[in-house]
Amino acid sequence: MAQKATALDAIRKVPNWINGQVAESAADRYGDVFDSATGERCAEVVMSSEADVDAAVAAAHAAFEGWSKTPVLRRARVMFKLKELIERDRDEIAAMITQEHGKVLHDALGSVQRGLEVVEFACGIPHLIKGEYSDQVGTGVDCYSMRQPVGVCVGITPFNFPAMVPLWMFPLAIACGNTFVLKPSEKDPGCSLMWAELLHEAGLPPGVFNVVQGDQVAVNALLADERVAAVSFVGSTPVAEHVYKTASANGKRVQALGGAKNHLVVLPDADMEQAADALIGAGYGSAGERCMAISAVVAVGDSAEPLLEKLKPKIEALKIGPGTDNSNDMGPLITEEHREKVRSYIDIGEKEGAKLVVDGRTHEITKSPGYFLGPTLFDHATRDMRVYREEIFGPVLTMIRVDTFDEAIKLINDHEYGNGTSIFTRDGDAAREFANGIEVGMVGINVPIPVPLAFHSFGGWKRSLFGDTSIYGMEGVRFYTRLKTITSRWPTGIRAGADFSMPTM
Ligand code: NAD
Repeated sequence: MAQKATALDAIRKVPNWINGQVAESAADRYGDVFDSATGERCAEVVMSSEADVDAAVAAAHAAFEGWSKTPVLRRARVMFKLKELIERDRDEIAAMITQEHGKVLHDALGSVQRGLEVVEFACGIPHLIKGEYSDQVGTGVDCYSMRQPVGVCVGITPFNFPAMVPLWMFPLAIACGNTFVLKPSEKDPGCSLMWAELLHEAGLPPGVFNVVQGDQVAVNALLADERVAAVSFVGSTPVAEHVYKTASANGKRVQALGGAKNHLVVLPDADMEQAADALIGAGYGSAGERCMAISAVVAVGDSAEPLLEKLKPKIEALKIGPGTDNSNDMGPLITEEHREKVRSYIDIGEKEGAKLVVDGRTHEITKSPGYFLGPTLFDHATRDMRVYREEIFGPVLTMIRVDTFDEAIKLINDHEYGNGTSIFTRDGDAAREFANGIEVGMVGINVPIPVPLAFHSFGGWKRSLFGDTSIYGMEGVRFYTRLKTITSRWPTGIRAGADFSMPTM
């Protein structure tokens, strides 16, 4: 496990991991990592140079030949072992997330569990990677397909899920026979070294999994490296678009998942208590720093008043404090800079004329050290307001009122993002119409955060995903493999001699 800082230790260092060991870096830049509940510096992360990236990719490239030819059952066994080790260390992993990211321990543990489920899925790789076979497609001719690994794969991940999002990527990539370079968020990099050490303990050969820390210098070097075959990115939309365009222009396979503005529609027939509870968890859990958080409530017809009546007291009763206290509902934001950004959106919403129902800027918790902000609720927002249009990524819910169900659908379909959405209703016909007609990648029906399980796939539409494939599940297996189809004829060759016309069966 990575070293923990104690009062006697020098500050915890977060290094690179290359070729099965901690790697010295020639970089002269370091980033500060903060305990977001106290505002104290808790670690220092190396900001890798192009030379570090070169070393990591070289290690992954050299390891590919051996790993891609390792029998699939042996690759699966590494995943079985990794599953056991994550289960053994899950509390330590969650504690690292809570310290660096700030989310409450129970929530951090939940995110480890959701990542672990992808490892469990990857344990089934011998079955998942199987090809297809058709015999006698012509006289004496058989046709079969196989899926082969693509080469060196890169994962670039955001700050909000330092365990779950990397686990969406590397277990499947590695199980498929690829080698991997992870570039985690520089804001909470601690877990990345845990993955490296656990994979090493699980018996993964050196070079198959590598970590380069840092920022855009490392990212851009990875995107430019011609030995890299595929890039999985998760983060904000502007960066996702940059990664998608650059990596595809450089001939790589790319899946780049971006930002979101997720709407939850409440129809007048919904159970308002249930809808309000759902909104509390989905809007304010993890301080709103989830790409599937609900940030826009669409109240249809006369649902707004009864919903508000239930929602407001629940928001005011939220328990906010350090993530180390498991009785808290919500922890701090990731950095002071991010808190200021979220706070500035509350100012903007007020100036734009949205009605501030609960104001997180004045919450008692903001007097504590750390990057806390209270939960905020706007009502009467309109579709042209920035507070409605833009991703805030904090504990700010914005309610928009519409007269009809069709207006709600149009509002969501017109939005630039299409990650997740949800509807609360008792009407099966409306729910079905919603699921079929909505232009969003992941839909919940009386489920506020419809994150697909590991054996389905995760991905948004519109400007929430650039590229053709969603992440993990069978889409993940397809992303991390190339299809090869073989047509064969045995054993006496083409008896009639050469054939110059297009063969037909
Ligand atoms: P971010 O885009 O700032 O950073 C993501 C990664 O890109 C980090 O590793 C970072 O070092 C790197 N990066 C940042 N700026 C870069 C640049 N200019 N050039 C190259 N690389 C750069 O995102 P974040 O703030 O860490 O995470 C929050 C965002 O991620 C939100 O927008 C959220 O919606 C999104 N997110 C999306 C999903 C999803 O599945 N769609 C999941 C989680 C988070």
